[in-house]
Parts: sequence; structure tokens; C-alpha cells
Amino acid sequence: MAGKCIVILGPPGSGKGTQAVRIAGELGIKHLSTGDLLREGVARKTGLGLEAEGYMKRGDLVPDEIMLGLIHEELGRMGDSGWILDGYPRTLPQAESLSGMLEEQGRSIDHVVFVDVNPEVIVRRLTSRRICSGCNAVHNLEMEDMSEGDGCRECGGELVKRPDDDEETVRRRLEVYGIQTAQVVDYYRRQNRLVPVDGAAGIDEVTAEILRNVK
Ligand SMILES: [Zn+2]
Repeated sequence: MAGKCIVILGPPGSGKGTQAVRIAGELGIKHLSTGDLLREGVARKTGLGLEAEGYMKRGDLVPDEIMLGLIHEELGRMGDSGWILDGYPRTLPQAESLSGMLEEQGRSIDHVVFVDVNPEVIVRRLTSRRICSGCNAVHNLEMEDMSEGDGCRECGGELVKRPDDDEETVRRRLEVYGIQTAQVVDYYRRQNRLVPVDGAAGIDEVTAEILRNVK
């Protein structure tokens, strides 16, 4: 029997990557993050991998057709095995191309998990993230019940905020994400494939809710 084909969507800070790894482990399917696909393509020195490397070296975004090509190659290698795709598609044209490609392979997406979190919760989560300047450990003032000015729990080092986690930057990222992804979410909702889960719940609860819906 062919394994499940799952797509996971969610804004930055939703914990989607963590959930994707857990779901892959629980269902015995492969976690395909776009970052890993790019790294594998480059390491295998496939034509597409080398092309992608060129864009990344110049600091440019890897174009859709190359990313889709890399996904196509990887799915071809995997045969009938199941997978959970994390980080793709982000736009409606990408979602449509993915469906077309799967159809040619005689497959289709079984479930689209949407880890939904109120933007204000994400802003609080991301702006309270701190990195240790001594050991690089990542801490979260809010989630770990720490205060501004506390030292690293691992090494006592000074905790600093990444420029990316500044409130204005976080809000801008969420806005861009929201505009692009609303169409993708609607597309899958119309196909009755969408599984919305409340990402504001605890990590274990979110995993359990996803599993209840995709098993
Ligand atoms: Zn530290």
C-alpha cells in the first residue's frame, strides 16, 4: 500500500517544522523540508542541484521550476513511500504545479495540515526568543518563564535577540506569509483536504490532534 502524502503549512513561529518531524516519525514516512531537498540536490550534484546552488551562492531565491524539479526527483526516488512536505508550496501557482506533477505520477495529496496560530501569539513567541552569545543555545523568555537580563541556563552567558526577531521584522514576515498562503489554504480547503489545527496549544497536544486527523 502506498504511504500517506501530506503537506504541512503554517506561519513562521508556528512550530510546523517540529510537528513535521514528529508526524514523519509517528507515521514512518519521510520528512521533506525544502532546505533538505536543496542540500541533497547540491550534494548529489544533480543538474538541478547545481543550478539551485548557483542561485543560492548569489543570494537569490531558487526559482519555482527548479524547486519543483528537485521535489519531482526526490519523489521519483521514493516510489510508493509516504512523505510530509514542509516549506512547499507557499503560493497558489506552486500548489497547482505540485498537484499537476503528482497527478502525472498517479498520486495525490491525502491531507494538508494547517498549523494555525494567532499572529499576536507568534509575535510574542518570536520576539521573546533569545540566543546565548556564549554557547548559541536558543531560549524563550516567555515559554521558559525567564526575565529580560537573565543569563543562559546552560552556561550563564549573555542572551541576545537576533535582528530577525525584532517586532517590526516579525510582523512584516507574517504579513508576507499571510498574503501568499491564504490562497494556498483556500485552494486545499475547497478540495476538502485541509486539516486545520490550533497551533497555540502545547507541542504534544498539537501532535496528538494532527495524528487523530491523518491516521
Ligand atoms: Zn549559553
